Amino acid sequence: MVTSSAILPEAALIMPSKRTSILVSEVGPRDGLQSISSIMPTEAKKAWIAAEAAAGVPEIEVGSFVPPKLLPQLADTAEIVAYARTIPGLTVAALVPNFKGAQNAITAGAHKITLPLSVSETHSLKNLRKTHDQVFDEVRAIVELLNTLPKDQRPHFEGGLSTAFGCTLEGHVDERKVVELAVKLMTLGCDEVGLSDTTGYANPAQLQRLIRLVRAEVGDDGLTGVHLHNTRGLGLANALAALEVGITTLDASLGGLGGCPFAPGASGNIVTEDLVFMLDAMGYETGIDLDKLLVVRDIVIAALPGEEMYGFTPDAGLPKGYHGPWGLPAHAA
Ligand code: ZN
Repeated sequence: MVTSSAILPEAALIMPSKRTSILVSEVGPRDGLQSISSIMPTEAKKAWIAAEAAAGVPEIEVGSFVPPKLLPQLADTAEIVAYARTIPGLTVAALVPNFKGAQNAITAGAHKITLPLSVSETHSLKNLRKTHDQVFDEVRAIVELLNTLPKDQRPHFEGGLSTAFGCTLEGHVDERKVVELAVKLMTLGCDEVGLSDTTGYANPAQLQRLIRLVRAEVGDDGLTGVHLHNTRGLGLANALAALEVGITTLDASLGGLGGCPFAPGASGNIVTEDLVFMLDAMGYETGIDLDKLLVVRDIVIAALPGEEMYGFTPDAGLPKGYHGPWGLPAHAA
């Protein structure tokens, strides 16, 4: 008999004994919008971001500093960052593909910037048109720029390791390569690395193994977040597996906006509403008001007619009488 501990060594941690805080980072305005051809009006983006922040979402990736001709959907990112900065308490994150993007993100006032590095070099060449060495040059230049800034104006700099669990072009991705690149990014001066299941290939056991391997080299503080997809229906299983090994930041997209180009009918990113319901019901602290979160969707639907929105919790509604951690003894809630 295989004991469960062989697969999920910390499976006993099914319900947190005290209310552990988990940071849910909304990536819909960047990841969701870049994956659809419709362009959301700037005012609707602002309304979406404001409503999610008002529901308690602490961090939102509001756009990407890529040339507008490549992604016209995100051409207003600088304006959106500036707007989001006016929302008290909200951490404003942006994706930057290169040094130029980082410069623009800093000028606009982003609190956090993420530069993606594809572990699969084939994917890197196709996606960013850069070899790994060329991406390292961008990272070096960004770190030099960051080092010239006063501490209070310096955004948090994350290196996002995409295709960390497999690549649609190369297939299997060597875990040793992921660890090597994570170490390299930290050595170059990133504050943190993230692991991204860009292709939806990850499974819970693989995810836990890779998180442990990377953390053994960069420390627990060097890897606190993962970006998961639900391409094969394993999104929330993977999220739970990540929590069990100490991950505290989870990316998600409202309504799974953007879908998945490889699997029609499946969301791409994990769905924020379902993730928050799972976390809330289990007793994790997210700071998010589920009732308020569920109505934010209406803003997105109205602004993007015809675009598919995913998620089970929004369709089914909250359980009858639901008001917070479900099944926890009163003293623990
Ligand atoms: Zn994604």
